[in-house]
This record gives sequence, structure tokens and C-alpha cells, in this order.
Amino acid sequence: MCLNKHMGILLRNISTLLTLQEAARKEGRHITEQDLGILSQAAVLIEKDRIAWVGPQKKLPKDLAKKNHRELDLKGCTVLPGFVECHTHLIFAGDRAAEFEMRNQGVSYQEIAARGGGILSTMKKTRAASLADLARWGQERAEHFISQGVTTLEIKSGYALNSKDELKMLQAAQKIQGVRTVSTFLGAHALPPEFKSYEEYLLFLTNEVLPVVKKKKLAQRVDVFIEKGFFPPEVSEVYLRRAQELGFDVLVHADQLSLSGGSEVAIKVGASSGDHLLQVSPKEIQSLAKSEVTCVLLPAADLYMKTKYPPAREMIEAGARVALATDYNPGSSPTQDLNLVGLLARLEMKMSLPEVIGAYTVGAAHALNLQKDVGSLEVGKSADILCIEKDWRTLFYSVGESTKKVVFSRGKKVFNNLK
Ligand code: FE
Repeated sequence: MCLNKHMGILLRNISTLLTLQEAARKEGRHITEQDLGILSQAAVLIEKDRIAWVGPQKKLPKDLAKKNHRELDLKGCTVLPGFVECHTHLIFAGDRAAEFEMRNQGVSYQEIAARGGGILSTMKKTRAASLADLARWGQERAEHFISQGVTTLEIKSGYALNSKDELKMLQAAQKIQGVRTVSTFLGAHALPPEFKSYEEYLLFLTNEVLPVVKKKKLAQRVDVFIEKGFFPPEVSEVYLRRAQELGFDVLVHADQLSLSGGSEVAIKVGASSGDHLLQVSPKEIQSLAKSEVTCVLLPAADLYMKTKYPPAREMIEAGARVALATDYNPGSSPTQDLNLVGLLARLEMKMSLPEVIGAYTVGAAHALNLQKDVGSLEVGKSADILCIEKDWRTLFYSVGESTKKVVFSRGKKVFNNLK
């Protein structure tokens, strides 16, 4: 079972280990407790950045046990795959606390946007910020995610809406360390004031920006915000198809504020994910369930927006693959709290704890097309490992409280308050 003969790290004395192996085999659909792959008294061998062996400690092959590994006694900790945070707007300047108050007093998101607020107010501050500042703030925020057990972090651009500063945002994202990052170009987040129509702006992005992003390898994915008052579905579809021709994975901010055709476009173009999806009807749910599109649900945004929650139960029961994420951004979801997201999924969307854990590992790995590498603890996969002091049943249970932990990203210890 061992990959090679190099010295590694043996994580031993694990009371409970969740491999998520079966959940991965089921590609993140219909997850039950049996799919968590729960082992007692287990061990994991890390060699370089990979998992070289995983199983009950007693079954560790003698030739591996005798090798000169460093050993880490986890003193009865629980071990599971590192979390995959698959939807964030991590890079931005300023905050939108004043708008939060406005919205809370009854002004709609669309009205705020029409008054030059919303995304456009973050745009002004982000355009004015330096690359160094954006990277520094991004690193601080990334470390907050890492401290919660996140080992893969998706990061979108989309707060500059011009060529120079969108590239600056993506460059800032590239500087982040201690976590695997996946960058997404979201130039199609809002219409910048320099353009008169969505068609004209998308043409500019297609012709002037996407080729540069691709050439400089600044992002792997392209996202678009399909919504009434934002990007219409027809032109967005053309844009996404062009992005695919250039070699990008694509995804859609879909059906958040209204049933605006976003999930339909996601299915049509074969997007890796459709994100938000709280307005979908039974028809879209059936189509999503039959497709390879991962349904990325963002309940913290729904809490802040005071909207309904996505129909997670219907999606899961129809066979859709579900992921969860924070949607961390200064406007509609100014929180990095994974516990809150998981708790809302349980309380408001009636997801079971195994479904939440599956959504934050295997489901989210699929949303980023990284399922071959992350999301479950299996031989050959990346050593992205979360070791927590408490039992797994205490996960996504108590907001404001976090268990002590050790986090490994690609075999390197990136966080430890267990000592
Ligand atoms: Fe978002």
C-alpha cells in the first residue's frame, strides 16, 4: 500500500478516523453515516505530500512500522479530511457595514446596487488598493480559514471590474500560502460604470481579459453572476462557452435572488458548479440531480440576505451532489465561519451531520474538480488532514466555539493549537 520508501510522518493513536472513502466512491451523492468510513484506533502515514497508508493502527504493515518515520501521537484525536471551502470572495478592500445597516432597515440589494452601492462600492476601494495590501489582507483571512481546518480555498476576483485591477486581485490570490488555492475569474460580477451594456462588457472580458488571465495562468475557472439586474442568461452562456474554449472550467452564481435561468445555463454548458440555487423549482432540481453540476449552497448569505434557504433536502433526495461554503464577501456574507454554515445547513436546511461533512469535503472537492486529489483520506491522495481534539459529532454544532486542532496541508503542518 505504500507509495515509496522515503521517510514520512506517522499519525498514530487516532481514536476515530473518518476516511470519507465511500462518500468519494458515491461521488458525494446520497451520503449517509456509513459513507464516512469510520475507523477506530487508526493511523495515517504521510509521505511527502501524499497519504501513503491509512487504516486501523494494528494493521499497519510491519515493514512500514519499522521504517524511520517521525511519529505524531495524536492522543485520541479524531481525524478527517481537511475542509474544502469552495466559494469565497476573499480578496477585497474595505467593508460594507454601513450597507448592512441600510439593508437591515429594508433597502433591497438591487436598490443598493442601483444607487451605486453594493459591489460597485467595494470596486472603488479594491481598485485603489495596492497588490501588497490585498495580498496581506488575503493572507490574514486565509489563515483564519486554515485555523478552522480548511486545506483548500477557492478565491474569486470580481471586485475590480477592469483589466488591470482584476489581474491584481488574481495576483494577490496567488501569493496566499499555507493552503491549496483555486482562483476563479469573476470579472462578470457586476457591470462597471465604464460600460453601457452587459453584452459590450462581456465582449471586452472575452477579447481583452480572459486571454491574458489564461496566458499568465492567473485563474483556472470563470464564474458569472446570472441574475435580474445583473448578467442575463443568454449572453452569459455565450461568455461561458468562450471561456471553456480557452480552457477554463466554468461555474455560475445561479438563482440566488430570483429564478433567473442560472442553473439552466450551468447544466447546459456543463459547469462544475451552480452556486446559491435557493430559488430553483422542482424541475431544475431534477435536472441538477441528473447532471454533473455540484450544487454549492451558501446559507450564511441567505441568513444575511434574510431570504429563504435552498431546498437542500429535495436536492439530496433527488440525487444531486451538494457542497457547502461561506460565500465570504464584504456585502452579502461577511463571515468566514464554517461552523455557522454547517449549523444553518443542519437547522434550516435539515441536512444531517454526515451530509454536512460530505458537502464540506467530497462535495466541495467535486465543485472545484479536485475530487481525484482531495476530499477523502485515501492512499495516493493529497495529505490534507484535519485532526481535532473532540468527537466528530461535535462538528457544526456550536457557533463561537472551536475544537483544538492540527491541520496538515499537502503533508505540511500549517496549524497546531493542540501542542
Ligand atoms: Fe458569491
